[in-house]
Amino acid sequence: MKLTSLAAALSLAITASISPAAPGLLPVTTDTAALKAANELDSIADDYVKLTLALGEKESGYVDAYYGPPQWVEAAKSDPRDMRELGNAIVDLMLRLDALPKSDDPLAAQRKRYLSAQLEAAHTRHAMMQGETFSFAKEAEGLFGVTPELKPLAEYDPVLAEIENIVPGEGPLSERVAGFEKGYIIPKDKLQTVFDTAIAECKARTEKYFDLPQGENFTLEFVTGKSWSGYNHYQGNYQSLIQVNTDLPIFISRAVDLGCHEGYPGHHVYNMLLEKNLTRGRGWQEFSVYPLYSPQSLIAEGSANYGIELAFGGEERLEYERDVLYPLAGLDPDTAAAYWALQIAKQALSGARMTIAQQYLDGEITRDEAIALNQKYQLVSAERAAQMTDFNEQYRSYVINYGLGMEMVRDWIEAMGDAPVWRWKAMEALLSDPILPEDLIGELVSD
Ligand SMILES: [Zn+2]
Repeated sequence: MKLTSLAAALSLAITASISPAAPGLLPVTTDTAALKAANELDSIADDYVKLTLALGEKESGYVDAYYGPPQWVEAAKSDPRDMRELGNAIVDLMLRLDALPKSDDPLAAQRKRYLSAQLEAAHTRHAMMQGETFSFAKEAEGLFGVTPELKPLAEYDPVLAEIENIVPGEGPLSERVAGFEKGYIIPKDKLQTVFDTAIAECKARTEKYFDLPQGENFTLEFVTGKSWSGYNHYQGNYQSLIQVNTDLPIFISRAVDLGCHEGYPGHHVYNMLLEKNLTRGRGWQEFSVYPLYSPQSLIAEGSANYGIELAFGGEERLEYERDVLYPLAGLDPDTAAAYWALQIAKQALSGARMTIAQQYLDGEITRDEAIALNQKYQLVSAERAAQMTDFNEQYRSYVINYGLGMEMVRDWIEAMGDAPVWRWKAMEALLSDPILPEDLIGELVSD
């Protein structure tokens, strides 16, 4: 990314996050045309929320979060629109956005671009709901606004060779790794304590840099029968329900992973900052709804994953897990470094998950082959490899948001400087403003 556009993006983002308008007030202007355009943008935003809720009636899980007027969701249920009406409504909103006059206000221009990108995604998902199929790459581009660069699996073979040295022995490497990791499972009766402690630490590290809204809170639940390992259901009013799936054994590293990813500074904080700064602060109603299949998810998953290393940089994570979580879980702290080294080495395999998903979803390999490849290139148990394949069947190209999203967020934030204070500042801006995936790669364009 060019430094100028990077600085422009950050300055736009920071300006927006530190100078919220009074809730519900329009900018003071004597220009009737500008006032009319501002009203029209608010009206498009309201209609976009209603449209998203109506699409949510067609596909369970499409609406990830909603905390706007309850009568809008009631109307979506009591007066459902058919697929043709919904398709027309998406195009109509796109045309209304295009018809808006150019704005001198960079925030209004950014708001318009954001809505436009979210509508493009709704257009793609609407087509998929009607049975249209796309290649993995086209689907990812249509839903999340980025085209993933996929590496052939053979490029990950040198990583596997390195891990051979960490876990030497006979038989398939994935089985050796799975056998080794069995020693790092959190016993079921210790899950609550270990997770409560880890999430509290993620929160404390986030609070050093962010002013979290008064009264914010979350509920933690352990659930079963899901294809994901954790989920944040944002409820509005600065409250979240965080669910952790216990279908499979939970390893000690997952407490910090999920505490940061689902909680602080991940999904819970992202949703809260959008509510505080945009929905309440600026009266931008479109942020009261979160359609899962949209560019917003790349920012959400990328920032949630990057948030783990932001909160626990370098060896801080090893030290914290070894000194605090291992004893709580009844695990031997002297073995923490060996497990940690393996987890670090495995991170270099994360891109393989996307390649395997692409091959499977594009029909190049069977489900059994996808499971076998996940086992080999993600170094997980057969059960976990099957769960990952279930996830790909359910969420399809959504998987790009984790690995690719994290790389994009990391590159953008770390270009701001080495000092933690700058990185947290950039993270806060990313979580507080209508920033799109394309803004992270330097294609900042004006209206
Ligand atoms: Zn997530």
